[in-house]
Amino acid sequence: MACQRNEELQELLNEAKKVANEGKVASYIPALQRENPDTLSCAIAYPDGQCISAGDIQKNFTLQSISKIITLALVLMDYGSEHVFHKVGMEPTGDPFNSIIKLETSSQAKPLNPMINAGALSVTSMIKGKDATEKVEYILDFVRKLCHDPEITYCKDVAISEFTTSFLNRSLCYYMKGAGVIHGNVEEIMEVYTKQCAISMNCLQLAIIGAVFAGDGICPVTQEEVIPKNVARICKTFMVTCGMYNASGEFAIKIGVPAKSGVSGGIMCAVPGRFGIGIFGPPLNEIGNSHTGMRLLELFQEKYDLSMF
Ligand code: GLU
Repeated sequence: MACQRNEELQELLNEAKKVANEGKVASYIPALQRENPDTLSCAIAYPDGQCISAGDIQKNFTLQSISKIITLALVLMDYGSEHVFHKVGMEPTGDPFNSIIKLETSSQAKPLNPMINAGALSVTSMIKGKDATEKVEYILDFVRKLCHDPEITYCKDVAISEFTTSFLNRSLCYYMKGAGVIHGNVEEIMEVYTKQCAISMNCLQLAIIGAVFAGDGICPVTQEEVIPKNVARICKTFMVTCGMYNASGEFAIKIGVPAKSGVSGGIMCAVPGRFGIGIFGPPLNEIGNSHTGMRLLELFQEKYDLSMF
């Protein structure tokens, strides 16, 4: 998809960049802390295949938690919602994304939703394939189809960096395995999960995936249905209720569109029936959302009336 540079978008980007020094680049995954806090890029992909952008849209970043929406769509397509929601709930939580507390206090140790780490790990444990390599390839093939780019892959450095330091996520897996919520080999689930989080792309490719969800599952490049409408609808609903960590309520009020962020500083929005937005701005606010990305979306909301509410 060819993308036109847009002056108006660039001006909003320049304005949003002014708050870059108020945020902090994630460092708990060591490889992420190398990012430059001044980086900010954005693309908007429309359902008819048009696209506008500003900033360095060639710059790749890893999806991190944004991948949770993609694996959720995949397992919903493979198993149907009844099976999936038997293993993971539908309710938002006010807790941080990596919290273990609700697993212990809820009656069945079932994670509250697929956007927190426990829920996403449960979703990853359902991915089809005979081993980790096949499962990762299966996820990658789906991502390649979503953004219509056969070259998409994961960043080995970031995947290894997280795999070797991710003790909390391992604890979530072992807790859920002990409670019979997930099955299978925890190291394999961790390998698949850290590689799915390390899938690397630029904000144009992310905007195209956002446009797929915004357009009820239709790829804006090929006009083919790549996700059934019902699955796209479920994913967008989770993006509204839990996509922006424990600031999802505030985000719904201030911006009002389905969105998913990741600790790398990426944000994907799916503005229903209008367009997909891909943003990359590495400095995060205290909740873990891109600080410059949030500022940019506030400016969009003021200017283009994004909110669906
Ligand atoms: N790979 C990250 C983790 O599990 C993803 C977190 C995020 O982006 O919220 O800690």
